Amino acid sequence: MNSYIERIIKEAEKKNNNQPEYIQAVKEVLTSLEPIINLNNKYEKNAILERMVEPERIIMFRVPWVDDSGKIQINRGYRVQYSSLIGPYKGGLRFHPSVNLSVMKFLGFEQIFKNALTGLPIGGAKGGSDFNPKGKSDNEVMRFCQSFMTELYRHIGQDVDVPAGDIGVGGREIGYLFGQYKRIKNAYEGGVLTGKSVCYGGSLARTEATGYGLLFYMREMLKQHDNSMQGKIVTISGSGNVAIYAAQKAFQMGATVVAMSDSNGCIYDENGIDLDCVKEIKEVKRGRIKEYLECHQDARYFEKTGNNSPIWGIKTDIALPCATQNELTLEDAKQLVANGVIAVGEGANMPTTMDAIEYFLSNDVLFAPAKAANAGGVATSAIEMSQNSMRYYYTFEEVEKKLDTIMTNIFKECKDAADEAGISGNYVAGANIAAFKKLAEAMIAQGLV
Ligand code: NDP
Repeated sequence: MNSYIERIIKEAEKKNNNQPEYIQAVKEVLTSLEPIINLNNKYEKNAILERMVEPERIIMFRVPWVDDSGKIQINRGYRVQYSSLIGPYKGGLRFHPSVNLSVMKFLGFEQIFKNALTGLPIGGAKGGSDFNPKGKSDNEVMRFCQSFMTELYRHIGQDVDVPAGDIGVGGREIGYLFGQYKRIKNAYEGGVLTGKSVCYGGSLARTEATGYGLLFYMREMLKQHDNSMQGKIVTISGSGNVAIYAAQKAFQMGATVVAMSDSNGCIYDENGIDLDCVKEIKEVKRGRIKEYLECHQDARYFEKTGNNSPIWGIKTDIALPCATQNELTLEDAKQLVANGVIAVGEGANMPTTMDAIEYFLSNDVLFAPAKAANAGGVATSAIEMSQNSMRYYYTFEEVEKKLDTIMTNIFKECKDAADEAGISGNYVAGANIAAFKKLAEAMIAQGLV
C-alpha cells in the first residue's frame, strides 16, 4: 500500500480507536485512492488526507424531553459538520438507538464524497440522536423534536448547515423540527431543512428521490454492460423511504420485486410485492413487514434469527440493500453469488462490508456503491433548497428529469474515473476517486483552512 495512505489510516485508527464504523469508511475510501495518490505528491504536500479524516466541527448535546407518562427522558444529540468546502454543511438526521459518534462520523465522511459527486454546491454533514421513534406517540415525537431543535437551531441555517431526513426521520419529524426552528427564529427560512412536506416548501419528488435515483444509476450501470432492468427479479432490504421508492421505480422499469424486509424479518412474494400494501403498513400504520401476510396469505415470511438477514438467501438477479450499514456480509455475498446475482446497488449507506464488496467485484458482479448510487436524495434536497431560494416550485416531472440527469452524470463520472485509473468496471474506486479529486482541488484552492 502507498506509504502516505498507510500512515493516515494508522493515525486515524489510533485517534479513533473505538469508532469501528468510522474507521471502516475511512479505510474503504483511502485504500481505493492508491492509483491517484501514487501519481501526484501534491496531495501529501497539502496534507489533503489528514484534513479529510478530521471533521471541521462536532457538536454533541443533551436532549431532555417528557414522555406521555410524565417521565423525564434524556437522549444525546449530534451534528457532525464535516466539510463546508463546496457549500453549506448538508446531510440527514438519523433517530435510531444505534446512533453514536462513530456512526455519525462515518455518515458525515461518506456524505462529503457523495455531495461532491452530485456536482451541486453542498458541503457534508450528518446528525441525529439515539432516540428511538419506534412505538412512540406523535406527541412524544413532537416533544423530542422540539427539544432537539431548541439546541440545534443555533448551529444551522440555510447558508450554514441544512439538515434533512434519514433513518427514523421522515416527513413527520421534519415538520416538527421546522415548526420549532421557525418559532425560535421568528423568520421563515424555508431552505434551513429539506425533506419538508410540499404543503409548506418541500419539493415534489424529494420523497421518491433516493430510491428513484438508485434505479437510474442501476439502469446506467446495466446499460454500460449491455443489460437492463427489464424482466429482472429484484430483492430489496428495508421497507422505509429508500426501499419503497426503489421498489416503485424497479417495477416501473419492468422488473419484479419479490422480497422486502424490516429489522425483524423479510417477506417473499413470488408474484411480485404489492407495494400499496407495504406503503399502508409502513407509511400509514407504522407497522411491521410481517403484517403483509394479513392481505397476502400466499406470500411467505422469514423471521430474522441471527445477525444475517434472511433476504440475502433468496434467489435474485439484482440485490438492493436499502436498510442500514453492514447489513450485507461476506456470508450473504457468497449466497447471492451462488444464486446467480448479476448486480448489487447500495441504497443504504455502507450496507455492504468491505470483504463482501471485494467478493462481489472478484466474482464479476456489477456493484453500485452507496456514495454514488444513493446520491439522488441529497441532490434533490439541493434542488429543494434552490426552489426555496427562488420562492418557486418545479413540477414532479421537472424534478424527476433533473434527478435522472444528475444520476446519469454521476454514473459517467464513476465510469470515467475507473477507466482513467485502469480499473474499468470498478465503480467503487471510480466513485471515490472522482469525488476525491473535486474535494482535493477545492481544498488546495482555498488554502490551509
Ligand atoms: P427509514 O427509517 O425510512 O427506513 C429504514 C429501514 O431500514 C426500515 O425498514 C428499518 O426497519 C430498516 N432498518 C433500520 N435499521 C436497521 C437495522 N439495524 N437492521 C435491520 N434493518 C434496519 O430510513 P431510510 O429509508 O431513509 O434510510 C435507509 C438507508 O438509506 C440508511 O442507510 C440511510 O442512511 C440511507 N439513505 C437515506 C436517504 C434518504 O433520502 N432517506 C438518502 C441516502 C441514503 P425497522 O423499521 O424494523 O427499523
